[in-house]
Amino acid sequence: MKAVQYRTIGSRPEVVDIPVPSPGPGQVLLKMTAAGVCHSDEFVMSLPTFEGLPLTLGHEAAGTVESTGEGVYSVQPGEAVVVYGPRGCGRCHTCSLGRENYCPYARELGIHPPGLGAPGAMSEYFLVENERLLVPLGDLDPIANVALTDAGLTPYHAIKSLMPSLIPGSTAVVIGTGGLGHLAIQILRALTPATVIALDVNEEKLSFAAHTGAHHALLSNADASRIIRDLTEGKGAEVILDFVGATPTLKIAAESVAQEGDISIVGIGGAALPTGFGFVPYGTRVHTPYWGTRSELFEVLNLARSGQLKVEVETFSLDEAPLAYERLRAGTLRGRAVIVPGATT
Ligand code: NAD
Ligand code: ZN
Repeated sequence: MKAVQYRTIGSRPEVVDIPVPSPGPGQVLLKMTAAGVCHSDEFVMSLPTFEGLPLTLGHEAAGTVESTGEGVYSVQPGEAVVVYGPRGCGRCHTCSLGRENYCPYARELGIHPPGLGAPGAMSEYFLVENERLLVPLGDLDPIANVALTDAGLTPYHAIKSLMPSLIPGSTAVVIGTGGLGHLAIQILRALTPATVIALDVNEEKLSFAAHTGAHHALLSNADASRIIRDLTEGKGAEVILDFVGATPTLKIAAESVAQEGDISIVGIGGAALPTGFGFVPYGTRVHTPYWGTRSELFEVLNLARSGQLKVEVETFSLDEAPLAYERLRAGTLRGRAVIVPGATT
């Protein structure tokens, strides 16, 4: 089968031919209908070392059940599903709460999410190790909604924990309006009465941010924090969601957050936010949320079913996946790139 792999350190993704896996006991083989392209894949490909190459990329997955291994009872061949991406041990207290994204044992057990250490989903077939990781898609379109498994789930998780601060009269700033950010704007609008200020690097991105529901869209530059202060009568924003995580965006976050506000660093830009007295306003809380919980994935899908969450998608065939990554890197995508294995180039 065709698969998109990252093969050697410093190389770009390649389309290769690999064997179709077969499901062992408890496992489920999916025929892939859609797989999302995430900036975290670029992070993986930027690391100076990485165990387990070649790596099939892809951690946003939708498919139909092709076949099941022994002892799988809850899904039937033909059923449309999405895959919960984080990987926990599946049996500790944290995992029992559906919070597999924060399983304390995954790392020591050598358990990795697909496409981020374990074989990923950007291929014609994809082996899922346990039926508990499958969430019914129902009548949602897989191509339009596959990105909800990460680009939707991650901001949903980040925003849900900050809901008590997002009261009427509050302000939320979204830095970076790409795959995750454009969904963060919609989630904020659907779940909270907060005023949403979006920041990105060019006018095209700002008009996209306004299109997805931001009340204000600003260039992410040295003036941004002053404008945010002006828009909030000097108070600053109660919540800052940084989907970049680079030195200039974290500086804007520190300068724009209100006292007793929250800075949520979602982007893996590799920069540090200096904290402590004199670095951030009094009472600032800083968060580093990772992905989302299994139950929250059901909630995100339900938000899409209600019509309040719509992923902007650009589609590519498996053969075109390397091009999708070039577009992601160049910052020219609108919303999320989705690979459609069934499409021909
Ligand atoms: P993306 O490339 O689709 O979007 C990034 C956006 O940020 C683009 O619109 C880009 O123009 C904008 N941007 C770049 N530099 C900027 C700056 N200085 N100021 C303002 N905007 C700027 O990426 P994505 O797939 O949405 O991922 C966003 C980040 O979130 C990545 O770092 C990714 O690795 C990370 N991520 C984290 C988690 C998590 O669990 N914490 C999960 C998924 C992705
Ligand atoms: Zn991701």
